Amino acid sequence: MNPESTLQSQLEIAPEEKRLLVLASTPKDSKMACKVLTESGIDCSVCTDEHDLLRQLEQGAAALLTVEEILSEETVELLEGFLRKQPEWSDLPILILTYHGADSPAIGEVIPRLGKVSLLERPVRTSAFTSAIRAALRGRYRQYQFRASQQRLMESEQRFKSLFEFHPDGIFIRDLTGKFISANRALENMLGYSAEELHNTSVSSMVLHEHTEEVNRYFEEASKGTPQKFKTRVRRKNGDILELEAAYLPWVVNGEIIGVHGIARDITQARLYQRQIEHLATHDPLTGLLNRYSLYDRLEHAIACSRRDSTQTGVLFMDLNRFKQINDSLGHDRGDLLLEEIARRLLKSVREGDIVARLGGDEFVIVMENLHDIEDMVRVSETMLENISATIYLDGHELSVTTSIGGSVFPKDGEDVTTLLKHADLAMYQAKEMGSGSFRFYDSYMNIKILERLLTENALRKALANNEFVLHYQPRVRTIDRKIVGVEALVRWNNPERGLIHPIDFIPLAEEIGLIHELGDWVLDTACRQNKAWQDAGLPPILMAVNLSAQQLGSASIKNKVQEVLAKTGLNPGYLELEITETSLMQNMEATLDTLHAIRGIGVSISIDDFGIGYSSLTHLKRLPVDTLKIDKSFIHDILDDRDDAAIVSATIALAHHMELKVIAEGVTSLDEIRFLEKLECDEMQGYYFSEALPPLQLEKTLQQNEWLLKSTAGVVTPLHAGTHH
Ligand SMILES: [Mg+2]
Repeated sequence: MNPESTLQSQLEIAPEEKRLLVLASTPKDSKMACKVLTESGIDCSVCTDEHDLLRQLEQGAAALLTVEEILSEETVELLEGFLRKQPEWSDLPILILTYHGADSPAIGEVIPRLGKVSLLERPVRTSAFTSAIRAALRGRYRQYQFRASQQRLMESEQRFKSLFEFHPDGIFIRDLTGKFISANRALENMLGYSAEELHNTSVSSMVLHEHTEEVNRYFEEASKGTPQKFKTRVRRKNGDILELEAAYLPWVVNGEIIGVHGIARDITQARLYQRQIEHLATHDPLTGLLNRYSLYDRLEHAIACSRRDSTQTGVLFMDLNRFKQINDSLGHDRGDLLLEEIARRLLKSVREGDIVARLGGDEFVIVMENLHDIEDMVRVSETMLENISATIYLDGHELSVTTSIGGSVFPKDGEDVTTLLKHADLAMYQAKEMGSGSFRFYDSYMNIKILERLLTENALRKALANNEFVLHYQPRVRTIDRKIVGVEALVRWNNPERGLIHPIDFIPLAEEIGLIHELGDWVLDTACRQNKAWQDAGLPPILMAVNLSAQQLGSASIKNKVQEVLAKTGLNPGYLELEITETSLMQNMEATLDTLHAIRGIGVSISIDDFGIGYSSLTHLKRLPVDTLKIDKSFIHDILDDRDDAAIVSATIALAHHMELKVIAEGVTSLDEIRFLEKLECDEMQGYYFSEALPPLQLEKTLQQNEWLLKSTAGVVTPLHAGTHH
């Protein structure tokens, strides 16, 4: 035996199983054969007789060497019986020394009964003899190994069979060519193929095209001995796409890689949930855009990249102009639809890769990473302005909205998220001041102005609750007798820090921030209450004119509101007049006409304020349910010098009278103007010449002096405001 196989046999086979048993005719013969074999390095054991042979066989042996002469019927029977006892004994090599080889009739009979018989020729002292013995032992050894490995395999199969069969993950084996050798039930169910179909299906026909290459690479790596873990996507037999978490492990037998084990777990559902959760956490549910939290994250990341690569990052901040009013008048459902549409238009306006987020309400932010040219921000803003201002069709409504956009740039306008957003926001306010539909970059000088505005905005919001608004009343004087027949209620903001602020300085802001409705309600209520109080105090009853903003006029509930205030204050509707401007009239003519009819229906009169500067033609007047025209002061101002203005005023008065409308001249400042208007039979006048708007107490005194005003008809009218002018 060579040293290697000796070593192996020593390791794996018990010593008695390496022994060759020798049974010859005489003990001397046996010993002689044994001696020869031992000299060749073969481990021998002499058996003294048949019974000793059986005993030693029981203890284990690699082969049996015997001689022809000893094989009596009795001995053959004994041996035959022994070999049948255990299956592995049946192939015990039996070497028989003969003189005549297989020709001997006795041997011919013995061979089939004893199984694995080899015939050796004498003499024993030849190399052929020892080689034959050695070959027989080697064969026996291999057999032993084979049986042992079979046994081990069986055991391990038993051990792992259940694990393989019932494992919830798909488990499979592929040979080195990539063919499926076996697959468990879970894999069959997962992929929708039977094990047999899998045998005939290639992996690459299941893996999605874009993953084939990498999956092949993983397979190659595993078949070279490195386990691989990866995620991939495959197509089920029915066409569904599955996301799998998989592993390839080398399949090693006897130190040799003969294939690859695979494990696959279906993570489709889990990934779906995970993505949904991630999406919910990072996106705005209404528009699907990124939400505030992920905006901060992404912007932070963009800033970090810009800092690293020495590039710029642009931030655009936008909101819709007057969104609150739009939302209020459309209803919130349509307001939501509008925001969704705006989101779509924004996505259409930006560059590929730009980040679009909704901060909340109607505020959106665009982050432009890797900005090489600041002009790109201008271009994107212009596209945004254009796309958003295009007519929107919502649920049968035609709508046009405008937006204002402010921009800031990293690093020049700020080096962190908060500063960049704040500055873009400030720039947006600046853009708003420039008028709707504009874009503006942040510049640090604007800070102070904007801050001032923000302070004003905050203060304005608190002004109502703090009772800071007051009404002043400007008299309307009847031309024929110079008697005060009415007043126009004008709101003032008595700001604790800045004193009395005129409406022109805060009404536009109140409209923008949606405060105008509340403020308008307060004005209406206060004016009516005041008029009633004067009447109750015994003063001559006069008409109270209250200005109505376009937004109030557009509100569906205005008529009810007026009715409610009249009922609450007890003022007779005949003493209330609502002033509306031409422009607000024109905004939604049909709806406004209905509203005006309804208001007049409850006995309240209507006047058109600032008449002449709008675009309504005189012919429109025919259709309008109004009682009074107030000619704008710009016409009255030039009435003496400008013949055109004089003609317009004259024609307007004539036509209005023809249509049975009352005419009031606004902004009367001189006696000459009074005389001129008198000639044209203008019904009433209002202006500084008579009085500016007065606080309630002063107005009360003036009303008591009505007698005095009457006396002044002679022409020597002393301006009332001469003594009270601030
Ligand atoms: Mg007015």
